[in-house]
Amino acid sequence: METKLLTTDDESLKIAAEILKDGGNVIFPTETVYGLGADALNPEAVKNIFKAKGRPADNPLIVHISSLDMLKDIVEEVPENAKQLVKKYWPGPLTVILKKCKNVPYETTAGLDTVAVRMPVNQVAKRLIELADMPIAAPSANLSGKPSPTTAQHCIDDMVGRVDAIIEGEDCKYGVESTVVDLSGEKPALYRPGAVTLEELEEVLGEVEVSVSAKENETPKSPGLKYKHYSPNANVVILAGEWEQVECFIKGKTDLSRIGMLVFDEFPKIDGVKCISLGSLKNPYDAMHRLFWALREMDKMGIMTVYAPEIADKGTWRAVRNRLYRAAGNEIINLSKGDTKKILFVCTGNTCRSPMAEAIFNKICKEKNINAKAESAGVYADGSLVSTNAAEAIKEYNIDISERVSKNINKDMIENADLILTMSASHKMALNYAFGDSEKVYTIAEFIGENQDVADPFGGSLEDYKSCRDMLYSMIEKVTEKI
Ligand code: AMP
Ligand code: MG
Repeated sequence: METKLLTTDDESLKIAAEILKDGGNVIFPTETVYGLGADALNPEAVKNIFKAKGRPADNPLIVHISSLDMLKDIVEEVPENAKQLVKKYWPGPLTVILKKCKNVPYETTAGLDTVAVRMPVNQVAKRLIELADMPIAAPSANLSGKPSPTTAQHCIDDMVGRVDAIIEGEDCKYGVESTVVDLSGEKPALYRPGAVTLEELEEVLGEVEVSVSAKENETPKSPGLKYKHYSPNANVVILAGEWEQVECFIKGKTDLSRIGMLVFDEFPKIDGVKCISLGSLKNPYDAMHRLFWALREMDKMGIMTVYAPEIADKGTWRAVRNRLYRAAGNEIINLSKGDTKKILFVCTGNTCRSPMAEAIFNKICKEKNINAKAESAGVYADGSLVSTNAAEAIKEYNIDISERVSKNINKDMIENADLILTMSASHKMALNYAFGDSEKVYTIAEFIGENQDVADPFGGSLEDYKSCRDMLYSMIEKVTEKI
């Protein structure tokens, strides 16, 4: 597909508006992140958004409007608290979820009877919606799972050839997505923190329930919460602790060449480590503005592991913390409490045995209150989703690993682990060959004084996966007794 690159003058915006009227899709700037827009009331146009992004069809879109008149066409009613809230924060970086009316197709809301709506303040976005004269459904204009685009170049990098047009506007003012608040139920609920803070919402709405992360075992109220998000190609890890501990941890690494750090201006420099500053510790807006850009820059530099500092869980920082911690898949190394044992399970593709082992280990540790945490990786992993049968087998423990993406083993993971357990002797050999002999590496069987390898159920039936799971369970129970 040919992608037109357009500027922000009125003639170009008219071309973009015509594309939207014809059912096409256009990437446009907003004050939060760049959006990938199409006619919100045209199911076919909306389906193309999901296709262009590779977005799961059960993750609903935000509908962008330019006037309150448009709001009336898409929602059933506007409750009093919503009126007060949008009076204060629209146009701006705030999305409200209300009951939808019939006009809005289920393609846009991913089957829900509610619809998310926002009125952007960015003048290009506003003018485009006016010229197209329609509500525009638009998620962030990145490939699904990647960091959201905050510059026109990010959109070009991800989406040329996948969309009809890209409007090359300015860099996004805020740089993280809108605050999402649900006003369709009995109590207001915050689903995504953004530039409009929880404290600001509560000033208008009274108490707001916070529901920003999908817990294991639960269906999230906002479908987007269950997806891995905002992730660069590099592995992102949060280092919790004092600066001296962080410095000591980083200096202990044997190879700094592919390590990157997100820092603040106030932090002292560490020689030989590629650092990108998120700005001053005093200004959360700087960090918000730079975060996604910084993650993309790390990929461009070929960084393998990005270490990032802890972020405060308050006010405007909450939005930065939420995006960064999700990019890290909540992988946090607690440097002040160094006694959490870190176990790494390794198999071939990290889609069957080792993700099951990771889930089983963490489940047993939680139940027995053991201070240890498992991760997993593969010796030949290529970023694919966990196998359906593995996810199905683990689901019987009420644990959802279905969105897990496979990780390839690297030197840094080896260094960070206290104990590495492989499924078979061949994995152990592969690790020792690639990273040098290490006293931390055992096959699971070897570690518990047995001798059978855990065979690969790849391509097998659900029953095969379940018997592999049960074998892993009884072996890992013995592992937890030993550590
Ligand atoms: P994005 O389009 O990538 O900015 O993501 C939009 C976010 O809003 C996702 O996390 C969705 O799950 C959430 N969202 C959109 N519409 C609804 C809705 N009707 N109910 C709950 N969450 C919604
Ligand atoms: Mg998004």
